[in-house]
Amino acid sequence: MKYNFIPDTMNIETVLGCNARCTMCSIGSWERKHGMMAPEIFDTIVDQMTDFKDSLKSVALFLDGEPLIDRFLEDRIALCKSNDIPQIGFTTNGALFNPKRIRSVLEAEPDWMVFSLDSLDKETYEKIRVRLKFERVQENVHEVIRLRDQLGKKTRIVVRLIEQELNRGQFPEFQNYFSNLLDNEKDEIHRHGTHNWGMGDTDYDFGRTKCGHIDSKFVIYRDGTVPLCCIDFNGDNVMGNVTQNHILEIFNNAIFHRARDIHNSGMRHTMSVCDSCDFPEANSAGAITEKLTPNGKLLSNDAFKPFDNDAARSGDAEVSVGKYEDMLEAS
Ligand code: SF4
Repeated sequence: MKYNFIPDTMNIETVLGCNARCTMCSIGSWERKHGMMAPEIFDTIVDQMTDFKDSLKSVALFLDGEPLIDRFLEDRIALCKSNDIPQIGFTTNGALFNPKRIRSVLEAEPDWMVFSLDSLDKETYEKIRVRLKFERVQENVHEVIRLRDQLGKKTRIVVRLIEQELNRGQFPEFQNYFSNLLDNEKDEIHRHGTHNWGMGDTDYDFGRTKCGHIDSKFVIYRDGTVPLCCIDFNGDNVMGNVTQNHILEIFNNAIFHRARDIHNSGMRHTMSVCDSCDFPEANSAGAITEKLTPNGKLLSNDAFKPFDNDAARSGDAEVSVGKYEDMLEAS
């Protein structure tokens, strides 16, 4: 069967839960039950991903929780590797690493590992990364870099600063510090702005930009449920479940197509989940998004393609949002 839409990015919620309560994260208000993804569900997902592995550019073994809580993390990485699934990795706050876990994760050979660090100043760091200890995380990051190099592993290490009021102006120091520690050939330093987790004021005029997620990114919750996207954190927009249908069937089903029609018509704001979300704007050209090599070469600063809002507003966008919401209710 030929499918028009094939995901290039996967976010698999191997575990729901976190050891931190960072100021810019909404996980404390999520209503879904915490816990790990059952290995059988993960096996099903890997099996399905092998059918389109050549299209995959990134497979993240986390959603927004902390992946090191997952005691199966190394096994899951190994399973993906043995099935030739490309670009496996995860983003972590780094606090739950210890020397033994660092070694076992590196030996599983993830392709990439992102450390969310945000500041080199202890006071700022601990105000942002609530519940975490600055020194512990710093020590862990240094040890991951050291051991990765000693073992000769290929894992790309990315250090990331999410810029917000508390750490504004600290990125040059952050970049300078890590440029001396990281490998210029494979590692990266990122700076991002914050987004509003779909909890913005609907009176504000976002909601016209087509979202970059809708054609390319596929999210799976720990029980196999597929939401519209990672912002739909309580699963209000259920598109399917991978234990019942193949990933490609779900990504090409009528509800996903309806959501795409709405976005393509410049009418994203008529979908309640997208109306209050600034994710596309927060990631569009002009927003704070920089990906650099350790020696400062700009790799990318435009996560999503900007959309012509004015053209969308003047267009003849006759979209009945009722159909999307009706489909959701019926599913
Ligand atoms: S606009 Fe926001 S809520 Fe809508 S699909 Fe994109 S990320 Fe999800």
